[in-house]
Amino acid sequence: MRDADRRTIIAGLGAGLAVAASTACAAPRGRKIGYAIVGLGRYAELIMSKFAECDQSRLVALVSGTPEKLTRFGEKYGIPASHRYSYADFDRIRDNPDVDVVYVILPNALHAEYTVRAAKAGKHVMCEKPMAVSVAECRTMIAACRAAGRKLMIGYRSRFEPYNQLAIDLAKKGFVGPTRIITADHGFNAQPNQWRLDRKWSGGGSLMDIGIYSLNATRYLTGEDPVEVSAIESTDRSDPRFATVEDRISFLLRFPSGIEATCVSSYSSNHNMYRVTGTQGWIELEPATAYEGQAMRIRRDGRTEAQSVPVPKGQHAGQLDHFAGCILNGTDPLVPGEEGLADMRVIEAIYRSAREGRRITLG
Ligand code: NDP
Repeated sequence: MRDADRRTIIAGLGAGLAVAASTACAAPRGRKIGYAIVGLGRYAELIMSKFAECDQSRLVALVSGTPEKLTRFGEKYGIPASHRYSYADFDRIRDNPDVDVVYVILPNALHAEYTVRAAKAGKHVMCEKPMAVSVAECRTMIAACRAAGRKLMIGYRSRFEPYNQLAIDLAKKGFVGPTRIITADHGFNAQPNQWRLDRKWSGGGSLMDIGIYSLNATRYLTGEDPVEVSAIESTDRSDPRFATVEDRISFLLRFPSGIEATCVSSYSSNHNMYRVTGTQGWIELEPATAYEGQAMRIRRDGRTEAQSVPVPKGQHAGQLDHFAGCILNGTDPLVPGEEGLADMRVIEAIYRSAREGRRITLG
């Protein structure tokens, strides 16, 4: 990009950039909030490494069904044996004052059980996406945290990622005119022999895992909940990966303002993008929801330009510190349990639409 072009677009985006930077982390300095990680799989391993970037959060306890991992990660992160738990003795965490938050990073079908147990142990809960495997479970989790007077946040990390924050702000301000259409595609090639491909543990296929990024993006880019859902599923049942879960599911959402979203969710092809099309142009992110490397292009006034955004802090650390700040300040998380519930309502409608071959209306 020419320097002159970059200056032009940055000048036009000044307000948006300021918002993105200011929402990255608003926690006060001081005491650090202690996290216990439950389930030491691949994503947990990444999360554990991100505490080093945090200002308000620290790793203080581990919960695992694999003793070797408790030893390995305990030694790596300086977690004493007294702060390492098995699933069987997880409830003893109530007696550990160092633990403020239990972060659930287990297979989807275990999210509800460990969220409820953590709330009953008097701990705040961060739970990975998808929040659970049904609307009913989401409601139970919200009720349990409310009854215990504890906060619940869902791991929608993109809300703490500066390019996504800027896209939300620009869409809200009508930078390319009022939004008319959103396209959102997410997918990857699923490896065989894992819990994700077993409905008992995952609750569903690509939609529960990766397509949820398409859905969640349409909701945060519009600030609305869809009122109509149409979906079609394409799954090769002779592929052993897809004996119990879906591969590809494409869905069309209609929002109250008239915005339409067309979305792809796939376990057999790679996608990671969205485009917000307004009456005067479009805003595109590709990759949109990856761990890093976001790239933005904007088309406005007949010109298409790349836009770079400062990334002062990674999205994972931003997410951990945001929840810590909520606990320290007594404020509500940006992505509470109700956000996970809202996605799950639409997910259930998408599955129903595909199954019954008809449009589903959401109240
Ligand atoms: P992994 O399979 O890598 O890890 C899951 C861990 O859960 C296992 O290593 C195991 O840890 C524990 N576990 C307990 N019971 C079971 C069981 N019955 N089957 C398998 N594992 C079990 O999964 P991921 O880390 O990829 O995913 C975990 C969660 O995180 C999912 O909900 C997923 O959707 C979410 N996720 C979110 C991402 C994001 O970007 N927000 C990215 C990736 C995942 P142990 O041996 O310690 O008991």
